[in-house]
Amino acid sequence: MAQAIVVRELGGPEVLKMEGVTLAPPGPGEVQIRQVAIGLNFIDVYFRTGLYKSATGLPFVPGKEGAGIITAVGDGVRLFAVGDRVAYASADGAYASERNVEASQLVKVPDGISLETAAAMMLKGMTAQYLLNQTFQVGPETALLFHAAAGGVGLIAGQWAKALGAIVIGTAGSQEKIELALAHGYDHVINYNTENFVERVRELTGGRGVDVVYDSVGRDTFPASLDCIKPRGMWVSFGNSSGPVDAFNIGILAQKGSLFATRPTLFGYIATRPALEACANSLFDVVQSNKVRININQTYPLAEAGRAHTDLESRRTSGTTLLIP
Ligand code: NDP
Repeated sequence: MAQAIVVRELGGPEVLKMEGVTLAPPGPGEVQIRQVAIGLNFIDVYFRTGLYKSATGLPFVPGKEGAGIITAVGDGVRLFAVGDRVAYASADGAYASERNVEASQLVKVPDGISLETAAAMMLKGMTAQYLLNQTFQVGPETALLFHAAAGGVGLIAGQWAKALGAIVIGTAGSQEKIELALAHGYDHVINYNTENFVERVRELTGGRGVDVVYDSVGRDTFPASLDCIKPRGMWVSFGNSSGPVDAFNIGILAQKGSLFATRPTLFGYIATRPALEACANSLFDVVQSNKVRININQTYPLAEAGRAHTDLESRRTSGTTLLIP
């Protein structure tokens, strides 16, 4: 029998309870995986609380990121075979020891990358990939601000942006996190709990502002983030760790300097098989060439997923976090 965290009611971390579940054989187009590690993501919190709605309703198994070994293959699956090492970043139901998953959502993990690293990086790393290379094309001419620089996405994005030649400014909530971010690509890191980050960004850019702000904090950093951006720059709002941004008058983008605004999601950038493979291969390249290191800074048994959520929400984690079945 497989073990899975099943959410039967929305709520706090205490609703994450482990259960034994009977797994059917993989259906057409599916494979069965024995999971080696599961990635923890802030999006898992949004589904647990109900900020984002599960497509299947209650009950549901949360989680979107994991890696493991294929143990069975359903009809019609041609790209994968039993024994393949695979990972994914978009298939709901990751918090489980074994699971079935649509083969179209999987990629093979290259030999030089461990399954633990793959589980830690697929969702967060492909997010950094599209944010820096597709939503906005970051290069040597770019100055950028990345909030929550010491977080899972933040530490990957800092290293990747530095490899692309940008001037990389981050924010973080403690001295320890500032030092961690400075060791992962950031040129400057501002403590947004104690400093005025708008003034500091203006100082650091000689008054000009940055080309692009990547904001996953949401409510607490809006609208101040807009004041960090140079005229015709871009505001990328990609998360809600402090709560969602409230409705606003779009005229604010004119007042702040003819700004561009976008609210992207990874799933919109890996919706087709070629897009998924290109994004994953780009991530594998930067990791295998050591341009980006993946920091697994916290590991919890899957049964203690609730404790992992508590730590993530209370800002006690840095880098990436794994749940081990
Ligand atoms: P993180 O590891 O970055 O954890 C969130 C961090 O946000 C915290 O460590 C904390 O850092 C900071 N934070 C600021 N305010 C709060 C608050 N009120 N409560 C909790 N944390 C706060 O998480 P992830 O790497 O998993 O995700 C980062 C963000 O990116 C999330 O908002 C997530 O939803 C978003 N995301 C969006 C994707 C997309 O495609 N749109 C895909 C992947 C992630 P500090 O202590 O330094 O302030």
